[in-house]
Amino acid sequence: MKRNTAALSYSLIKSSRKSISIIVHPDGNVVVRAPKRATVGQIREVLDNRMDWIIKHKMKFEEQRRLNPKREYINGEKHLFLGKEYILRVNNSLANSAAKNSVSKNGDFIDIWRADDLMAEELMQQWYLSMAKEIFPQIVTPVINNFRSIYNVAPNKISVKKMKSRWGSCSSKGSISLNSKLIQTPVRCIEYVMVHELCHLIHFNHSKNFYSLLAEVIPDWKERKKELRSILPYGC
Ligand SMILES: [Zn+2]
Repeated sequence: MKRNTAALSYSLIKSSRKSISIIVHPDGNVVVRAPKRATVGQIREVLDNRMDWIIKHKMKFEEQRRLNPKREYINGEKHLFLGKEYILRVNNSLANSAAKNSVSKNGDFIDIWRADDLMAEELMQQWYLSMAKEIFPQIVTPVINNFRSIYNVAPNKISVKKMKSRWGSCSSKGSISLNSKLIQTPVRCIEYVMVHELCHLIHFNHSKNFYSLLAEVIPDWKERKKELRSILPYGC
């Protein structure tokens, strides 16, 4: 049931638990779990005591939603490619068209040609992945060469793949993976992730030494990371 206490709307779930708990979900909904016998007054008191915490979390999630709105893959929606915004045009393919199920970039537009209504998102993700595989080597090769010339180390292998929640990773065997979604971000952000992972070839941790090496290679890494996080709220 939905209640509205002191301008805060929340859902209340009563069960045979012993204490009152509050959860703020990423969609901004507040859920209060309380013992069966808890009174409205007791619940209100707990909410009042934790109001600062609740508001802080609601604002944090609101900011995340603002920066990363849910994508619908419909006409007119804006999508990023190398940090630049493009307008999506979703076209229905004719049955025998050669362009059936394809994506292409044309001026300020990204055109999706789809044979099936449900395919726009999948086609877009496939396109991002194939573009990342095509373009990342051009971006990261000079970065790797520069790093090798100074520190005399290089990765064994570089792969580009879809990753759920990380920008990139570096294995103990020196294999570096880059998230294909980085193709949405500016070149300087992709370079930052590459340097971050290269630094792990020397320091396999996030120690003080790691960060001083990172700053040596890429003095403005903090700004780049901040920009990257505003587009893809991950880490690495
Ligand atoms: Zn790292």
